[in-house]
Amino acid sequence: MKTVTSINFLNKRAVIRVDFNVPLSDAFEVTDTTRIKAAIPTLKKILNDGGSIVLMSHLGRPKDGPDNKYSLKHIVSTVSNLLGTEVKFSDDCIDENAIKLSSELKAGEVLLLENLRFYKEEEKGDEAFAEKLSKHANIYVNDAFGTAHRAHASTAVIAKFFEPENKCFGFVMAGEVENIDKVLNQSQQPFTAIIGGAKVSDKILIIEQLMNKAKNIIIGGGMAFTFVKAMGGKIGKSLCEDDRLETAKNLLEKAKIKGVNIYIPTDAIVADNFSNDANHKASTITNIEEGWMGLDIGAESTKQFGEVIKNSKTILWNGPMGVFEMSNFENGTKQAAFDIVEATKNGAFTLIGGGDSVAAINKYNLAKEVSYVSTGGGALLEYIEQGSLPGVKAIEN
Ligand code: AMP
Repeated sequence: MKTVTSINFLNKRAVIRVDFNVPLSDAFEVTDTTRIKAAIPTLKKILNDGGSIVLMSHLGRPKDGPDNKYSLKHIVSTVSNLLGTEVKFSDDCIDENAIKLSSELKAGEVLLLENLRFYKEEEKGDEAFAEKLSKHANIYVNDAFGTAHRAHASTAVIAKFFEPENKCFGFVMAGEVENIDKVLNQSQQPFTAIIGGAKVSDKILIIEQLMNKAKNIIIGGGMAFTFVKAMGGKIGKSLCEDDRLETAKNLLEKAKIKGVNIYIPTDAIVADNFSNDANHKASTITNIEEGWMGLDIGAESTKQFGEVIKNSKTILWNGPMGVFEMSNFENGTKQAAFDIVEATKNGAFTLIGGGDSVAAINKYNLAKEVSYVSTGGGALLEYIEQGSLPGVKAIEN
């Protein structure tokens, strides 16, 4: 894939779609700089070549035009400190003054544009708006994986206003796509997908796609109970999507036909309440008492899943095995994380992606002990479902 490495930016100006959608405190200070830090290598490469940069991003979900709460001016000093270069700011992203500011940039200078979503046209993927954004520069770089599943003006539509040789991916995007590709298209068998989290309905397409790639699919978390009920088990008041029982059955049938092993938990830690202080005990998963709910996988399932994980050569993990935010129900998720680390040490390629499994791997300080932690929640899931993303296609086509 074509990255910033293949372009010499000397005396060129690049407009870069970054993901600076960072959390701000009440005093408008950036409370987590991860996303800004992630973009720095791409920006440094361009500046070191002798180019200049126009940065564009969204921040939050402004409802109706400009709103101080969502202004990117609050992050200027943070970007500047992390980059080690002064960052200028334009209080509009497409007006005449914004275009003037970008046209006056000298080599080594950086301009940050105001929040793209202050214009409704951004999320609508409006062509005229995208064309105006394209006027900022002669090269377009997309480094915002977190929004690459959106066909917005700045993430996809803008690309059509640049010749193929003048558009490319930044290092964040390239890293994500290359690592997901290792799992989806270059996986070594046995490939095990571990899918958890709350809802089956969110993960149906993913499970279907993964059946074409994986040898084993482990299902944990709240979604497992819909499968257990579909197979005739009693699940008490555990999480269940009754309108998905047929879907769950169909998925199990399909797996059988395709020769994919589906692992459903055999036991659970059940509680009489959705609370860490609730009474809790071990139970078989197919016979949970009325009034009790499963909040974690049990010891037997944890051990069985661990064996499968440790014998895998490729692992994708999306979604926790239980309510890992509560200490009494974190064991299944925690043990899965440590088993994935062990598999990594034994030479497996392991990719963790999707908000809550990333939160889990961070909770146990294991992010550096797996092969790759994806930064994109929705983008990663959609990549697996669709095999590509609008933001990726826009540059590759
Ligand atoms: P998702 O966003 O679909 O990946 O779901 C993640 C959430 O599912 C986490 O906040 C978990 O606490 C929750 N979760 C996992 N297992 C269960 C369960 N057995 N019952 C209820 N919620 C669960």
